[in-house]
This record gives sequence, structure tokens and C-alpha cells, in this order.
Amino acid sequence: IKFSDLKLDAKVLKAVEETGYETPTPIQAGAIPPALEGRDVLGIAQTGTGKTAGFTLPMITMLKRGRARARMPRSLVLAPTRELAAQVAENFDTYAKYTKLTKALLIGGVSFKEQDNLIDRGVDVLIATPGRLLDHFERGKLILSDVKIMVVDEADRMLDMGFIPDIERIFGLTPFTRQTLFFSATMAPEIERITNTFLSNPAKIEV
Ligand code: AMP
Repeated sequence: IKFSDLKLDAKVLKAVEETGYETPTPIQAGAIPPALEGRDVLGIAQTGTGKTAGFTLPMITMLKRGRARARMPRSLVLAPTRELAAQVAENFDTYAKYTKLTKALLIGGVSFKEQDNLIDRGVDVLIATPGRLLDHFERGKLILSDVKIMVVDEADRMLDMGFIPDIERIFGLTPFTRQTLFFSATMAPEIERITNTFLSNPAKIEV
């Protein structure tokens, strides 16, 4: 299978081709087709498997297909740490470079004011750690009712860090009709419970 077989947006494909990747990794080959059909995805994959592109490429493609009605975020990516969130943001910038899609990175250690300004201007994608996202929400700045795609990355680390209640709360702030792409290295019982509650008939890919 080649990237050009995956029905990615042409601008996304161009950016991928420039990275020099030759073929999709197994998690990419498994997760991208159902994600592009609009299905929920449960990916069981470690870091280093290419899972970041596995959710970022279909997410950008789905955003390109859809219409931005307001200046409200249509996609939300949650990662357990600042570093991981920043890595996702870097990946997004690489793969979205030929699109006009915009993002805000919401992590601790950066002033709220700077992040508020970005949100006020309007962004397509929020990439955040759970605590910081909820801080913004409580400041009354964030509207998540237009979120079409939500990604949870490294859910097992979220569990280790005690973020599951935050994740559950954030799921509840997004529309029930959203598409969810959920990644974890392991399936602990608590993770299984969350996926049973918040994912709808997911395509399950284990690598
Ligand atoms: P990740 O598991 O998302 O942290 O990705 C691990 C590394 O694999 C990153 O440095 C990516 O740039 C790289 N990568 C992602 N997809 C591919 C691919 N299809 N072929 C080669 N390298 C890739």
C-alpha cells in the first residue's frame, strides 16, 4: 500500500511526499482508511510506530473536506504532556503546510493571553494537554460545540497521570456526534471502560 492509495487530500499527500516517507506504517495503513470513512478508531500502538501521522493525516483531510462555518475549532487533540502536545503541533504544521488550516497549542508554561489571542482570532485545530484545555474552558473562552474530530493520544499515559476524569469531562463538552480517534499503548481496564463509553463501533487497529 502507498500513501497515494489512501485517499488523503492532495495537499496533505504533497506534504507527506516531501517528508520522504516511502510507505505508510502498519498503524497508518490500518487507521487512515476507516478514519477517512468517518469511523471512530481505536489504535493500540506505541510511540515510534508513526501513530501521530496516523491521526494527523486523516484529521487534516477531514477538515479540508468539511466547511468552516464559524471561527470555532473543529478539531481537538489531547496529549498527556506539553512535550507530546508540542510534537503533535509540529507534525500538524508539517502535514498542513500547503493548507490554510490553523492551530493553537494550549499547554502550560505559555501565557494565557497569547493563547487567548489565537483562540479569539479563530483556529481550526486545538492541540492541548487536558488540564490546560479545561483551564481555558473555565475562563469562558473556549467553545467546543463545533468539534467534529477529537483525538486522544497516549491514553495509557493519561491514565498514569490521573487525567481520566479530565478526559471524561472534555468528551462531555464536545458534541455527541463527533468522530473520535483514540490511541493507547495498552488496554488497561479503565481505558477499556472509557473506549466503551465514548467510542462508537470503532475500527480497532493493533500493531
Ligand atoms: P510517532 O510514532 O508518531 O512518534 O512517529 C515516529 C517517527 O516515525 C517520527 O519521527 C515520524 O517522522 C516517523 N514516521 C512516521 N510515519 C512514517 C512513515 N510512513 N515512514 C517513515 N517514517 C515515518
